[in-house]
Amino acid sequence: MTDPVIMWSAAIAVGLCVGSFLNVVIHRTPKMLERQWQLQCAELSGAAAATTPPYNLVVPGSQCPACARPIRAIENIPIVSWLALRGKCSGCGVAIPSRYPFVELLGALAAVAAMARFGLSAQGLAAAVFLWTLLALTFIDFDTQLLPDNLTLPLLWAGLIVNLWGLFTPLGHAVVGAVAGYLSLWTVYWLFKLLRNKEGMGYGDFKLLAALGAWLGWEALPLIVLLSSVVGAVIGIGLIVFKGRDHNIPLAFGPYLAVAGVVALFWGKMLVALYLP
Ligand SMILES: [Zn+2]
Repeated sequence: MTDPVIMWSAAIAVGLCVGSFLNVVIHRTPKMLERQWQLQCAELSGAAAATTPPYNLVVPGSQCPACARPIRAIENIPIVSWLALRGKCSGCGVAIPSRYPFVELLGALAAVAAMARFGLSAQGLAAAVFLWTLLALTFIDFDTQLLPDNLTLPLLWAGLIVNLWGLFTPLGHAVVGAVAGYLSLWTVYWLFKLLRNKEGMGYGDFKLLAALGAWLGWEALPLIVLLSSVVGAVIGIGLIVFKGRDHNIPLAFGPYLAVAGVVALFWGKMLVALYLP
């Protein structure tokens, strides 16, 4: 592991494989939640729950969504398989969205960026896990406007745990960051609701900002809120003006929070120094 070529190749290979797994997480987590809700509704209403085959991150194995043809291991190699198949299912020829290799590439980029910035260390590994989780949350929120608890809450706990050793910020700053992150957006949500009688964002956004506060400390929160609001407002207004988007359709805020969290991880100390000397 002292040979840089081996080290970087290993980071890229691990990142691509994690990216491939994140594609499964992004695709299946919302469907798993939906099944869970249906089951709970059936239980509540006393209806006999329909027995359904298991569906989780492992079972059933990957298959083509169009023709249900199982995807063989050789067709499941990140990037390479997509290129070899020319982006088409080998069974029915339906196009495989280029988003799959794109997420795999982002997974590798996250691993390389984490190692470049924090080295081959506990801090580097933790940073990679942080980035991978944000990657999954970004795409899930973008697709479904959901930030699942089973990703945001473990991210929050993980932030507190890594900062037991002060990996990114002292523990006290992490705890205050988690609480302040949650309460700040919670306050905005209730003010907006009282004034406009509308929901401006979801509870998932509070939990995600709490997680970012737990990882990066309370000092990073103003930066994250400012960055995500400015970028969110610019893109949101752009969509309304140029694409004629209805301004009553809610816009997922999670992706902007996640991108701001990434900026804060890499350049936060420098940017925070601008407003907290
Ligand atoms: Zn197919």
